[in-house]
Amino acid sequence: MATASDERDDDDDLTGTRAALRGLPGVGTLLADPEIRALTAGLPREYATRAVGAEVAATRASILVGGDPGAATAGAVRERVLARLRLLTAPRLRPVINATGVVLHTNLGRAPVSRATAEAMAAASRHYTPLELDLATGERGGRMAEVAALLAALTGCEAALAVNNNAAATTLVLAALAAGRGVILARGEAVEIGGGFRVPDVMRESGAALVEVGTTNRTYARDYEAALDRDPAGTAALLKVHSSNFRIVGFTHETTVAELADLGHRRGLPTINDLGSGALRDTAPFGLAHEPTVGDSVRDGATVTLFSGDKLLGGPQAGLIVGERQTIARIARHPLARAVRADKSCLAGLAATLRHYLHGEELTAIPVWRMIAAPEPALRARAEALQRQLAGAGIAAGVAAARSTVGGGSLPEETLPTAALALAAPDLARRGRTPDGVAAALRAGDPPVVGRITGDRLLLDPRTVFPEDEPALLARLLAILA
Ligand SMILES: *Cc1c(COP(=O)(O)O)cnc(C)c1O
Repeated sequence: MATASDERDDDDDLTGTRAALRGLPGVGTLLADPEIRALTAGLPREYATRAVGAEVAATRASILVGGDPGAATAGAVRERVLARLRLLTAPRLRPVINATGVVLHTNLGRAPVSRATAEAMAAASRHYTPLELDLATGERGGRMAEVAALLAALTGCEAALAVNNNAAATTLVLAALAAGRGVILARGEAVEIGGGFRVPDVMRESGAALVEVGTTNRTYARDYEAALDRDPAGTAALLKVHSSNFRIVGFTHETTVAELADLGHRRGLPTINDLGSGALRDTAPFGLAHEPTVGDSVRDGATVTLFSGDKLLGGPQAGLIVGERQTIARIARHPLARAVRADKSCLAGLAATLRHYLHGEELTAIPVWRMIAAPEPALRARAEALQRQLAGAGIAAGVAAARSTVGGGSLPEETLPTAALALAAPDLARRGRTPDGVAAALRAGDPPVVGRITGDRLLLDPRTVFPEDEPALLARLLAILA
């Protein structure tokens, strides 16, 4: 039953809504604003009016459903119109200087590719290219031939397939090999990788049934075998998922790929190994934990191994599926394979990246590996050079021992020693600045610079900064701090 006070609240809401709607700036008023006019100057009137009108309409809709009144003020609407117009008029995905020390920074687009890779991708994009034509015979040729040949040489696999990303690879492989049947997975590997990728959900979407075995911390080969014995006909595959972004320590036991592959071979079932990062070379020589390599997985007998192109491989975004010829052929024939296939620019980029490994030049040519391999003294020398240049302009800065991380869901807990340029709060305070304020100014500049705040310091880690970007980084610092 409505009370008098409920009615008064309703009346108040209605009055508030009417006031907010009345307070909305008109499209004409906004278009006449000098800053908005500057941004719309080069645009046909129709598109400018549509962009401004869309923002006003979205605000009106939000007021009507009781959205935040603070977002409906004339000033807030004007700011959003300006932001929307900037998206129309200036590229948002321009180069950023990554001074975070996170090598595979997901929010910054993961792996920057090598120059040869970027050039191969641009050339394939700008021109015609024999994607599905065999130039020798004039017949139709396989679009995967080059990448598959390279992966075969580098990992020992028989065949390979490239798709858009590893999430697509996982979905496709499960759909092709296990739809309508069970896939056995260790309980501790039913993980969420991030960005909405959760193994149980991917499994459901691909039509496979998750059969969890073992306990969160310990799973043995006999657990898989027992589940298989319970429903031999209903089981399609054994799955292993690399716990890319977390680590279970203590009283643990993990079944190895070799043990799973052995069980699979004995029982006529494929073993699927989702490696995640997909390192082609060992990370241990750089002071990191050993990350299982693609070659290890192939050698240990996994029927198919899946990994990303833009994590430790250091190439363009892709999902790679390597393994036994007949199984790869079966996966390639599935209708989903067509929906998620890699495009010509991606394939050209993958081939260029893989060729660096073929020629043993990955540590010099591939940015991700160059950054991982950079020794601390060299990084310290770079940080100190920046420090000296700032000191020359009368700006006090320190060089601090810090840790870089690989990131991108690779090697959790593993860090690399580094030396970062450190802008400390007390030094900045003398210039009326704060670490947060300088970090924001660096992000907002051109080129944008992204650093890392720890405690009361802004750290700029040279490990992830391209040496050729250092003059631009220094110029930004001088502009902000001088
Ligand atoms: C990162 C990751 C994925 C998802 O790969 P994308 O290339 O980001 O789609 C899947 N599985 C594992 C184990 C991963 O680490």
